[in-house]
Amino acid sequence: MSLNYSAPTAIISTLSREQGGEKRERLARSLLEAARWPAGPQCVRCNALNMACQVRRKPGLWSCKACRSAQYTVTSGTPLHGTRVSLASWITLYLHSEVLRERWSISKVRRELGVSYVTAKNMTCRMERLKTECPVITQRLEQCIRYLSYNDLALLMLPKHVNK
Ligand SMILES: [Zn+2]
Repeated sequence: MSLNYSAPTAIISTLSREQGGEKRERLARSLLEAARWPAGPQCVRCNALNMACQVRRKPGLWSCKACRSAQYTVTSGTPLHGTRVSLASWITLYLHSEVLRERWSISKVRRELGVSYVTAKNMTCRMERLKTECPVITQRLEQCIRYLSYNDLALLMLPKHVNK
């Protein structure tokens, strides 16, 4: 796929770092949720649909009205679960390495995302596992990314890649 966007980096630079970070994280979460749950959040424990209720003040955390004991997020039960890596970083990695087919090496992940080598290695392994273990999610994720507006896409791309 080719994405010939010549997005102005101004979109990114005008957002304060924090605002941009929150916005990116929200966008990344909604992409992952749409990819995993096209029909709305589904309980990871009892599989109930339309029984999810958002946990107050905890963005992305859902509780289940059917089984009452489960709280889950979009990464629960996937290889992306249980890391400290932001969802935005996962999506940025997925976008560059899979959708734009840049095939980032561990060193490149480390440099581009500003994480440690160990984290970069871990992210690369988990991304591979996500593709193997959750092919439907990754397929839908790519589709969701293709439908992003130009501004949203620019928000998720690394600034230096936007003006290429
Ligand atoms: Zn449930």
